[in-house]
Amino acid sequence: MTPRRPRIVVVGSANTDLVVRCGHIPRPGETVLGGELLQAPGGKGANQAVAAARLGAAVTFVARLGDDPFGAAARAGYARDGIDTTHCLADPSAPSGVALILVDGAGENAIAVASGANARLSVADVDRAAAAIRGADLLLLQLEVPLATVTHAARIARAAGVPVLLDPAPVPDGGIPDELAALVTVLKPNESEAARLTSAATGDVTSAAGAARQLLARGPHLVVVTRGAAGAVVANRDGVVALPAFSVTAVDTTAAGDAFTAALAVGLAERLPPAEAARRAAAAGALAATRRGAQPSLPTRAEQEAFLAAHVTAPRPAADR
Ligand code: ADP
Repeated sequence: MTPRRPRIVVVGSANTDLVVRCGHIPRPGETVLGGELLQAPGGKGANQAVAAARLGAAVTFVARLGDDPFGAAARAGYARDGIDTTHCLADPSAPSGVALILVDGAGENAIAVASGANARLSVADVDRAAAAIRGADLLLLQLEVPLATVTHAARIARAAGVPVLLDPAPVPDGGIPDELAALVTVLKPNESEAARLTSAATGDVTSAAGAARQLLARGPHLVVVTRGAAGAVVANRDGVVALPAFSVTAVDTTAAGDAFTAALAVGLAERLPPAEAARRAAAAGALAATRRGAQPSLPTRAEQEAFLAAHVTAPRPAADR
């Protein structure tokens, strides 16, 4: 029997990335002639919605786009990935969010984001999607839209018994407010975000484990701290486990974190044990790291399954530390 597809609602940001490759990143006042303009869909909310859909979830995306060509192109892309776009609103008075990205010859980048309509995703928008949130297996959130909107969505979910996974990126200046931390079931920072959210140091597994323990104390039942090619730390009330990354040849780690987060969400929505959901998430993150770009690099369920089948001997989570 085929299991029912898990239902995931994503409330988050939708951007269009405008990328120019250039020899070096211009200094203030300088003009650098670059290569061709590349236009690609982006935004953490959209990346994670697309990733979750490709990994087999039935996804509803709650977002605000502009009533402009960037917004129309982004929405069409979500629909091609099978996402329910009923709650992707076209704002008549704000442009679509845009990220202007310059990439130099060494792969370093400089990014300026105009949030546009993302900054206007409101509590009322979330209320219009309340039935979808209440009917979901999991609510997936990031912090590229207003904190009040994110908190309201989490409140609706938790009141209905729906688990909430928060990717706390970008970390707000004041950190995560207590109310939101208490509403979150699963918190998934990367190690620099985990360090910013705690008094822990960063850079090694012991620091990541320490940060995870501090974050657990704020309310979440599960904390997963990702550490790039060094893997992840998975912490819950049973203990803290270090999960190694899969060994791959990385060409572009953009969106590896989004692939990991979405796969973790799908695994947990399918009621997998946390360590297994995180292992599957590491496979999705590794796959995304082997390909260029953001949304184009996000793997499908079939690719994730094939990768896991080809890496059955990969290391399992290490003993509790
Ligand atoms: P973020 O992009 O949010 O900083 P990370 O860089 O921590 O996220 O990556 C998320 C996850 O993706 C990692 O925990 C790991 O499982 C996987 N991943 C990222 N980079 C690599 C890599 N170079 N090799 C293998 N896996 C990777």
